[in-house]
Amino acid sequence: MSGERNIEIICVGNELLIGKTLNTNAHWLAKRITSLGLKVRRIIVVGDDLEEISSAIKESINRKPCFIIITGGLGPTFDDKTLEGVALGLGLKLQENKEALEMIRAKYERYVAEGRIRGYEMTPHRVKMARLPEGAKPLPNPVGTAPGVFLEYDGVKMVMLPGVPEEMKSIFDESVVPMMRKIAGNLTFYEVSLDVKNLPESELAPILDIVMHDNPYVYIKSHPKTSEKTSHLELHFSTTCEDSNTARQRIGRAVVQISEMIKKKGGTIKPVKG
Ligand code: ATP
Ligand code: MG
Repeated sequence: MSGERNIEIICVGNELLIGKTLNTNAHWLAKRITSLGLKVRRIIVVGDDLEEISSAIKESINRKPCFIIITGGLGPTFDDKTLEGVALGLGLKLQENKEALEMIRAKYERYVAEGRIRGYEMTPHRVKMARLPEGAKPLPNPVGTAPGVFLEYDGVKMVMLPGVPEEMKSIFDESVVPMMRKIAGNLTFYEVSLDVKNLPESELAPILDIVMHDNPYVYIKSHPKTSEKTSHLELHFSTTCEDSNTARQRIGRAVVQISEMIKKKGGTIKPVKG
């Protein structure tokens, strides 16, 4: 599924696979990328394993998304293998990157000045964070130590970000969002939710078929709220387009049509705020 707006996310970490850590990075990135008007096509989770990382990268590159965002495994410890895995997958060498080395050195100098650590010598573990796949560029990390990494390969832009959520978010917002905005242009994502009661999903299904057929640009999805005895669901409407008025009109039309049909069947509807 190649496409100039398609994006894949690869999250690296054993802690995600054993259920120790909730993959909030993928959730945050998916929401952010969607709101920028781009499309997340896949979210992949792999362990801290060279073969797994490199094959995930190769498979993802073959689908030719415009961006691959990789999180986790950029740190100094033995289990941080993302850069090595990417290099292996793409047949690139790992090279010490001067700019990255300087960024890391400057961080440790600051930590020493602040009394947070004792020495700022560049130990092998610290240098490890500056060994990037050839052709890659470091992205400043405003919050932590390991720089993010940008690499373009075979027309696919790749961004590697640390696993620590605050670091991942700050590099993404500072360095990645501007690149994505260039691709998205004026595209915006617009969404509305309705709260529907007293209409079982099976009775809603034929209504959805009609409204989706009549409103081809609007994606409508029902989300059942299973905790209730009576039928209760959220109906989510979304569309991506170049102009927000058109987006609003498209969704408005679908909402009016579906509301009338639901009321006729005895259901009740309320907009969901937020
Ligand atoms: P560091 O430089 O701190 O080692 P790193 O890039 O090596 O950063 P990881 O070691 O993979 O990152 O993860 C650091 C921490 O970030 C983990 O202990 C975990 O708590 C958290 N983390 C990692 N991946 C995710 C994720 N996908 N969602 C939420 N939290 C995550
Ligand atoms: Mg780590």
